[in-house]
Amino acid sequence: MRPALLNPLFRDPSCLNGIGDKLSLSFKKLCGPYLIDILWNFPSNLIVRPFVQNVYALSHGETASLEIEVLEHIVPKTKRLPYRVICAAGAQEVELVFFHYHASYLTKMLPEGAHRFVSGKCERIGGKIQLVHPDYITDLIEKIPNYEPIYPLQKGISGKVMRHAVEGILKDLPVLPEWLDPHLKKEKNWPDWDQALIQVHHPKQLVDLSPQTPARQRLAYDELLANQLALFLVRSKMKREKGYIIQSAGLLEQQLRDSLSFQLTHAQIRVLSEIKKDMAQPSKMTRLLQGDVGSGKTIVALMALLNAVEAGFQGAFMAPTDILARQHFQTLKCYCEPLHVRVELLTGREKGATRRSILSDLKENKINILIGTHALFVEDVIYHRLGLVVIDEQHRFGVEQRLALTRKGEHADLLVMSATPIPRSLALTVYGDMDLSQLDEKPVGRAPIETRVLPLKRADEVIQKLKEKIVGSSLRTQVYWVCPLVEESEKSDLMAAQKRYEMLKEKFGARVGLVHGQMKDAEKDAVMKRFIDGELDVLVATTVIEVGVDVKNASIMVIEHAERFGLAALHQLRGRVGRGHQQSSCLLLYGAGLTQKAIERLDIMRQTEDGFLIAQKDLELRGAGELLGRQQSGLMDFQLADLSVHASLLDMARDDAKTILSLDPNLETTRGEALKNLLYLFQKETVFKTLKSG
Ligand code: ADP
Ligand code: MG
Repeated sequence: MRPALLNPLFRDPSCLNGIGDKLSLSFKKLCGPYLIDILWNFPSNLIVRPFVQNVYALSHGETASLEIEVLEHIVPKTKRLPYRVICAAGAQEVELVFFHYHASYLTKMLPEGAHRFVSGKCERIGGKIQLVHPDYITDLIEKIPNYEPIYPLQKGISGKVMRHAVEGILKDLPVLPEWLDPHLKKEKNWPDWDQALIQVHHPKQLVDLSPQTPARQRLAYDELLANQLALFLVRSKMKREKGYIIQSAGLLEQQLRDSLSFQLTHAQIRVLSEIKKDMAQPSKMTRLLQGDVGSGKTIVALMALLNAVEAGFQGAFMAPTDILARQHFQTLKCYCEPLHVRVELLTGREKGATRRSILSDLKENKINILIGTHALFVEDVIYHRLGLVVIDEQHRFGVEQRLALTRKGEHADLLVMSATPIPRSLALTVYGDMDLSQLDEKPVGRAPIETRVLPLKRADEVIQKLKEKIVGSSLRTQVYWVCPLVEESEKSDLMAAQKRYEMLKEKFGARVGLVHGQMKDAEKDAVMKRFIDGELDVLVATTVIEVGVDVKNASIMVIEHAERFGLAALHQLRGRVGRGHQQSSCLLLYGAGLTQKAIERLDIMRQTEDGFLIAQKDLELRGAGELLGRQQSGLMDFQLADLSVHASLLDMARDDAKTILSLDPNLETTRGEALKNLLYLFQKETVFKTLKSG
């Protein structure tokens, strides 16, 4: 259970003075369920309100607080005119102007003859100082803050309410035992946890808002440390789990290698040996194989599977979609047949007798490798002796799901493959529970993809050129035409794709196909199959083709409204071409009104094909939360740490977490107990299940 010390921070926002149920609900929606979530919301700006006695020194547009004497109310004749209150600051005329007002309120707040303090933006207009809707009107200067933090714009919660809530929570901050390493804290000159929060919420100058202040660094570090500890805890639990020792002489692998028309890259050889070394360990393998599109992950996975097969185990290969499962099945079957290794396919679509016979053969160890979708792991699928599970393209998987899957696989080793190159810093925070292998080298002999950026206005020209290529060429050229992402709804996505499809059909005739996300799987597969088999020249698609599909003759990728796609998506899409020997090209068509960021994105695409570089740029342009897509935001949304700024802190946190857990694996020392508080603060309590009991 959560230590009582932390309870004050885990109360409902409605416990704050002046925060009723309605506001409480808004807070919960915006920040999270607890008070602590409100504190994680840092100011993004600051207003300084100096009290200015010498009003003559005020410059135009300056925000300041003044003492005034109320002289006269000028009530407008019609509601369309502003209400004005004429005041004086010494001999200087000061005018308060209100466009929206309740006259009774103004006369009460500003009775004629009274002295008041007002604060706001002071404008010099025709010898007067004018304040339009002053931010403060009060009889006590103390009621006007000198420094006012501004919070990122919040729907339903005004800055004032936000500040009020923050102050209310800061007033009762518990004093928590320090979890930081004292040397680190001293070296970095970081404040205590509570002081750090107080400082962050009380900026006094613009530099106080920088992510590099000691206070913000400390809190970012706290968050990263909590993340790394949690991941290491999960990982050590997996490591403690018993696995099989899987080792073979590598005869099948050798046979396969001999049959290939190409040589493995150095990266493939290196990664394969990392995997095999892991498989030979008596503990369970949990390894992430990361490699850019086209880096040749599939063959590596197959060799790992053959290693298991030769050692007397079965292998399972899971793809995220039917299309991909089928494609992998075709590929792997071709490779495996000469080796007398039996590969079968099982998806939701193998039914009845087919399914029954696959299941019984599987159980009797007559199938060596089973390829499929999630259907591989439903209840009645029983393996004889499952040694290795490969999951392809599962960058959308979180830690929790991975845990669930390994439960199904019992002692089987797990190899997860991701085609989303992500910067190391992100890999360590998302996949920190896994060992990492990177395929950072592309097979030789691939011609670079020529990427061009063109205005959508020139689509007709593009179509004309395509026509020449398709009709007039002896080489088979196939084209992907990806339709715009329309933000409002999937329906409008579809409409755009449909329209383009019909138009292209008019120009190219029947050899044009359409796939989109709302088609049934079987329909989608049928169209895809026709494209793969070369029966279609042009495939119009929404982004459903993004993941994995491999069509060697496809050498042109057109992306319409490319400015609406993120870098990762563009890179994935472009990776669909350039897989064969033909010179390939990618045309990025953009619509009107490009934002600066969109221009930068398109520029990056034109400049490089290096997925890791693109990912790094993406991180810089977008921030971590968005980079990996919403599915992972639960894992990735750092609230305090910004990996484009705090990457070095991440490395430290990682080392720190490693050392901590090697000395105190169950967090039982004094520091360990303090660190448990940290884990609770960042709501990582699910990992406590992995402590000791696990
Ligand atoms: P991805 O990493 O995107 O899954 P694939 O495994 O689908 O990449 O490989 C892409 C293509 O490159 C496949 O056609 C595969 O046969 C080929 N390939 C794999 N490794 C090599 C290599 N070392 N040299 C040449 N081609 C290779
Ligand atoms: Mg692949």
